[in-house]
Amino acid sequence: MKLPYNLRSNQQEIIDTIEKGLQSKNHIVIEAPTGSGKTFTSLASSLPFVINKSYKIIYCVRTNSQQEQVIKELKAFKDSGNNFSVVAIQGRQSMCPQQKDDDELAKSNWSEKSKICKSLKLQSKLGEAGCPYYRKLLRPTNSLIDRWSSEIYSAEEFTLNAESENLCPYELNKLLLKKAQIVIVPYVYFFEDFIRKYLLGWMDTTIDKIITIVDEAHNLPDWSREAASESLSVDSLHRASQESDKFGLLLGDGSPPTLFLDLVESALKSLGEYHISEGDDEGLLPSHIVSLDSEVPTFETEMMSLGKMTLYRLKQQSSDLSKMGQLIRQTLLEKGKRPRSYLGSVGDFLCRWLDSIESHTIRLVGNKPLRLEKVCLDPRVMTSFLDETAGVVMMSGTLSPLGMFRDLVGLKPESKLERFGSIFLKKID
Ligand code: SF4
Repeated sequence: MKLPYNLRSNQQEIIDTIEKGLQSKNHIVIEAPTGSGKTFTSLASSLPFVINKSYKIIYCVRTNSQQEQVIKELKAFKDSGNNFSVVAIQGRQSMCPQQKDDDELAKSNWSEKSKICKSLKLQSKLGEAGCPYYRKLLRPTNSLIDRWSSEIYSAEEFTLNAESENLCPYELNKLLLKKAQIVIVPYVYFFEDFIRKYLLGWMDTTIDKIITIVDEAHNLPDWSREAASESLSVDSLHRASQESDKFGLLLGDGSPPTLFLDLVESALKSLGEYHISEGDDEGLLPSHIVSLDSEVPTFETEMMSLGKMTLYRLKQQSSDLSKMGQLIRQTLLEKGKRPRSYLGSVGDFLCRWLDSIESHTIRLVGNKPLRLEKVCLDPRVMTSFLDETAGVVMMSGTLSPLGMFRDLVGLKPESKLERFGSIFLKKID
């Protein structure tokens, strides 16, 4: 491996620590201060596994500036005579040029963008108008892939360049992933289970061939907890009621969804009155569908009592709402509209809520706004798959106590934990 910088101080020690850990597919936790060359040393130690072996690196970042720092270092490695291909990924929000001409696409959330994009691509495949940026990618040639794989671009540079050639940056990026040896992604692309499966498919690889590097890893526990938490507010119920009036659909038993939604709101109010103490904003709900002390109400028992319904019917009506949402989304999509359904979102939330009580979450009722909330307490829900990878490097300036961090994100008990002081880099002339 040709290095772009003279090594300073204990940088060789960091590189050796990571390299040795990766050789045994171990997990390595490095704490070193800002400016100590964490990005550089993590790449210097992991790139040989990519260049000489069949591994690929997934480099997880939280912000665009972190992504740019990784790109800058990789360009320096390439300028020093190393050869590898890199793809920097961002979501459609940043990489879809069609949004400028399509209001519905622009104001959609990520899952709605995905549905609209899928529909536009299908139209393009059928020879209809579809998306103009996708047309040239219908039959991608090897020379197109080779040309775009030969350079290292930040996501912003890539987006501008591809757009200037009327190519969809997002879809072109996906095509390049198969060849890419280093892929830089926002956390969500790797730690969200279903997106990771797509990503590995596009990369044409398996999880055991992936070396994972997580930059600014102190963010990972909070990010994971937040990603695995969700809530249902009374505002969503009101929007769902408005949607119900507009579409006029009925639940399986012939009743209008508004009756069920009103019941959910009443249950929330009643739970709030019972569980939220004066001066508090939240109250803890029992962690059972029916509380051990049957006098203490849960969402399920409130719904059953207020609606005089069985648990089976509660689940059935929630599932009906969810299916109604799918129908509404499809109808809107066919009309070229944003495929958003509040009825569907309420139904989906309730189905997940009623499906099981996970041991890693607590359940709350909150006010300001009035809501039901599942709060994840254990980041390992999102990170436990890391055991299946070919090695993990987690780095940050603030991870101490390292043993606690290791256990919090579920790394191997035998993980290598190291703290280093400041190291400054000097570019080789
Ligand atoms: S194909 Fe690309 S440009 Fe077209 S809608 Fe999808 S992401 Fe946007």
